[in-house]
Amino acid sequence: MMKETVAKLAKEEIAPLVRKMEKEGKIDDYVLKILFENGLMGLEIPTDYGGAGCNFMSTILTVEEVAKVDGSVAALVDIHNTLVNSLIIKVASEDQKQTYLPKLAQEYGYRGITTFLVDRDTPGLTVNKAEEKLGIKASGTCMIHFDNVRVPEGNILGKFGHGYKYAAGFLNEGRVGIGAQMIGIAQGCLDATIPYTLERKQFGHDVFSFQSMQHQIAQVATELECARLLVYNAARLVDAKKDVMKEAAMAKLVASETALRVTAKCIDFMGGVGFTTDFPQEKYFRDSKIGTIYEGTSNMQLSTIAKCIRKQYS
Ligand SMILES: Cc1cc2nc3c(=O)[nH]c(=O)nc-3n(C[C@H](O)[C@H](O)[C@H](O)COP(=O)(O)OP(=O)(O)OC[C@H]3O[C@@H](n4cnc5c(N)ncnc54)[C@H](O)[C@@H]3O)c2cc1C
Repeated sequence: MMKETVAKLAKEEIAPLVRKMEKEGKIDDYVLKILFENGLMGLEIPTDYGGAGCNFMSTILTVEEVAKVDGSVAALVDIHNTLVNSLIIKVASEDQKQTYLPKLAQEYGYRGITTFLVDRDTPGLTVNKAEEKLGIKASGTCMIHFDNVRVPEGNILGKFGHGYKYAAGFLNEGRVGIGAQMIGIAQGCLDATIPYTLERKQFGHDVFSFQSMQHQIAQVATELECARLLVYNAARLVDAKKDVMKEAAMAKLVASETALRVTAKCIDFMGGVGFTTDFPQEKYFRDSKIGTIYEGTSNMQLSTIAKCIRKQYS
């Protein structure tokens, strides 16, 4: 039910603004407003703190649905929920939860992750200009500099000295979130492509009719389904509070590499028009590239998987 509601919201409210946001290089204020108003920015925050009180699988399904329409907005929803909110829910003191969770569920402007909380207007903290990027252009990416920033002891998040452990642990959930973003991008691209192949006539037939086209379509659809199952399985394990390091790395690795292949193939299935900005496939392709890089490159996922296998057999 929630999946359908998010899909409708993404299609009706976000989709019309996708190209505008990409051109302007920022998420439209209206989109931010509807994300907060509809509870998409506080999915796992308990209702007592103004959130929606959902489980992790709901977050994954939400990221996937939003990514079908736009990778940038999906990145925002994913990072906000799976990294920032999650960390605070799990390790913040009651005072910190009371102060920050209602803001994160209902107010704008909190980004990034650290083991202590730093307000944006803290002296010494500067946010650099937004980077020019290949894809997810509406999702702002900026260097943040800390120059002699003083943080009061009360802002330490969790236990002193446990930062790496927290960051590494929460990256697991974050990686499942990126996996969801990638399968959403790939599915959104495929959904925009198949109807065209059924309409486009060449040599007296729609191009879907050619067996070599059918085999390639079947191949990418199957690969996408495999990636989706890895992502959903990892999300299920997170909700069951199981160790998910290996499964999260596998889900992100496969989903991001698959999204690249599926979106590239969709451009091929469209022929020349797939290469133009009149159709959305080129944007899906560009948006998918980040999946093999952020929250750990594909090499790092492979290293993590190998580390887990070694541990399992040692
Ligand atoms: C759009 C965008 C948004 C981002 N958002 C955030 C964010 O919100 N927060 C944040 O902290 N960071 C963020 N990043 C940074 C991102 O997580 C890093 O760029 C990424 O983890 C890769 O690190 P690096 O750029 O230092 O690459 P490098 O470590 O320099 O890697 C270069 C190449 O070497 C390979 N390599 C490096 N070390 C090894 C190794 N030990 N074994 C095998 N291969 C290796 C890599 O796989 C890669 O191919 C973002 C980056 C981008 C592009």
